[in-house]
Amino acid sequence: MTLRPCPTCRTPTAWEGNPWKPFCSERCRTRDLGAWASEGYRIPARPEVEDSEGWSGEEPE
Ligand SMILES: [Zn+2]
Repeated sequence: MTLRPCPTCRTPTAWEGNPWKPFCSERCRTRDLGAWASEGYRIPARPEVEDSEGWSGEEPE
């Protein structure tokens, strides 16, 4: 019997016949996916500031 710690709550979890592996339960799996998703959404749409990159040092009139 293989026991692995649940990535979410660290509870030793059996993998055999566990539909939620590597998580211990649906709740933990959902929690993990939710955290991952919200983390992705939280990434600010940072505008690429390329002005300073393209300048050769001379300002156009
Ligand atoms: Zn868990």
